[in-house]
Amino acid sequence: MTETHCPYCALQCATTLHPADRPGAVSVQPRQFPTNRGGLCRKGWTAAEVLTVPDRLTSPLVRNEAGELVATTWDYALDFVADRVRALQAESGNDSIAVFGGGGLTNEKAYALGKFARVALRTKNVDYNGRFCMSSAAAATNRAFGIDRGLPFPLTDVAGAGAVLLVGSNIAETMPPAVAHLAGVREAGGLLVVDPRRTATAQLTEDAEGIHLQATPGTDLALVLALTHVVLQEGLADTAYLADRTDDPDGLFRSTAAWWPERAERVTGVPAATIRRAARVLAAAAPVHGGAGAYILTGRGAEQHSKGTDTVTACINLALALGLPGRLGSGYGCITGQGNGQGGREHGQKADQLPGYRSISDPAARAYVAGVWGVDPDELPGPGKSAVELINALGTPDGPRALFVHGSNLVVSAPRLASVRDRLDALDLLVVADVVPSETALLADVVFPVTQWAEEDGTMTSLEGRVLRRNAALAPPGEVRSDLAIFAGIAQRLGCAASFPTDPAEVFEELRLASAGGIADYSGITWSRLDAGEALFWPVPAEDHAGTPRLFADRFGTPDGRARVIAVDHRPVADDLTAGTPLYLVTGRLLQHYQSGAQTRRVLELAESEPEVFAEIHPRVAASLGIVEGAPLRLRTARGSMVAAARVTTDVRPDTVFVPFHYGGAGAVNELTNDVLDPISRMPEFKACAVEVSAELAV
Ligand code: SF4
Repeated sequence: MTETHCPYCALQCATTLHPADRPGAVSVQPRQFPTNRGGLCRKGWTAAEVLTVPDRLTSPLVRNEAGELVATTWDYALDFVADRVRALQAESGNDSIAVFGGGGLTNEKAYALGKFARVALRTKNVDYNGRFCMSSAAAATNRAFGIDRGLPFPLTDVAGAGAVLLVGSNIAETMPPAVAHLAGVREAGGLLVVDPRRTATAQLTEDAEGIHLQATPGTDLALVLALTHVVLQEGLADTAYLADRTDDPDGLFRSTAAWWPERAERVTGVPAATIRRAARVLAAAAPVHGGAGAYILTGRGAEQHSKGTDTVTACINLALALGLPGRLGSGYGCITGQGNGQGGREHGQKADQLPGYRSISDPAARAYVAGVWGVDPDELPGPGKSAVELINALGTPDGPRALFVHGSNLVVSAPRLASVRDRLDALDLLVVADVVPSETALLADVVFPVTQWAEEDGTMTSLEGRVLRRNAALAPPGEVRSDLAIFAGIAQRLGCAASFPTDPAEVFEELRLASAGGIADYSGITWSRLDAGEALFWPVPAEDHAGTPRLFADRFGTPDGRARVIAVDHRPVADDLTAGTPLYLVTGRLLQHYQSGAQTRRVLELAESEPEVFAEIHPRVAASLGIVEGAPLRLRTARGSMVAAARVTTDVRPDTVFVPFHYGGAGAVNELTNDVLDPISRMPEFKACAVEVSAELAV
């Protein structure tokens, strides 16, 4: 029996693995833990199936002259890759190699990946798929609070609140056990959900006098400005808090003065009366009015826009107006999505960061981390390109010629996929480490088979910044090795003098040291403390430190301790509606699948439940196009087209089409999405673009 956590989302539900009657198999049982309270969703219950899927990768593969991926030895594959890297760098310089990581990698792998890129490959070109996930919230909280920790409080705190405003977060499908924490809020009539769809989460408002604010796609920012306008104009703000704890209270008034609810109604489609009612419900729960507490929580719906950072900033400004951040029982937080979405952004796999959530442009941070790594700080590369910019540079005259991909399925999850495939095709070398032959692995020149959750020790960091132990229950099958062995094998072949341990416990010890004194300080965390069940939320700066479940009680992480009020304003969707493309395309998640679906589409129960892509359209639109339930729809944007089966439902607005993004090949909706970026977070605009919909004639 092994205690560990679910391999999928950031809720990191606790599980116990029991040996099963087949070799290499386990069965999963839920375990009591604060975030999941003994619950699991269907993905968690069935997670063991991914360990034994028939097409599990079990030996290294190298593409032969006939273009086929054929099994080989680790030594041959590592030699092949190292030789190609050496040759490419001799011709085109160190930055001719790029590395792309993932938010599902353990802390140890994420840390080692960043070090591998910068020390062994000596390239600045490293980034990861978290750029597609919560980067807008990270950018917004960094500039407002000086620290980015998804939830700067334990999730269990939310249970005592009087109101929760969820902006673009569908937790009832993405992390169902988390809904238990909303029971009290629902009972109090305080659940407020902003979403253009009537999601499972939005439906939670219906039997409990909550409010679903079903805004036009791409207008959350205007809606939140209007909510703040009401709070300020009706005298509901916490003026003492604003004066004490923020740098520019007047800035809030200036930036929201023009967003009276009637104007916001014209932009968002949400009735002015509903906006006023929602603002009053939220304010009534705020401590300044004697309420039980209020939270504002954002998800990908708010963040995956070219104005995602500003949308989250507006949410933070509303929270500041009500005096929520740093107050016990209230606050602002981001509901991070990927399993290690939080830890994944703390240890140096981001283009602009070093371990400890340090800036790679900070000379003191560079000197400290270089010291831990035993290299000259002047030899550490500077900041590289963000994910989409890095992908767009692959194979261009001055761009990288080789790419390592660890824990990411780019040809399903990145925007504007035709371009992504073109860029990957232009590479001299594509190396993919994965557990199954994902759509990206199938394009690679070399594929390394790597360990997955139940086969490896390590740590993960939940959406609350709580560090957790992942425990191995099984030996990996076949020739499978950890990503850590790939970093060590290539580094050694390149003659790198720095050490690349393959034992995750040893990597964690180095990570502790590298993070010491940083924002995400893990130096006081030991595996023995975690194994003893201690709840260690970072920062934990010493082994006798109890951890920091709640941030910002006395001061924010800015130089003067005050939160920054940053004026933001609404702007339209970059690829907005035209006469020819009259509907908004919105992408999102399903209960049955996780991210690119590479794992969950291989789990029989989940695949049978949601086997293929579909498009939700409103009955009025369906009728105007002569489309009936199940009929094939052609969706066309400026970037591509696809066919999906129609689901006719009033859960979407008449101006909206919804397509889940978990499917590859012809079912990949990211063929259509826009890769325009948020200017600050570099997040692509996954969540809204103009689309033309027509009936597809059967062939
Ligand atoms: Fe829990 Fe998320 Fe796993 Fe579901 S997918 S069991 S919510 S950790």
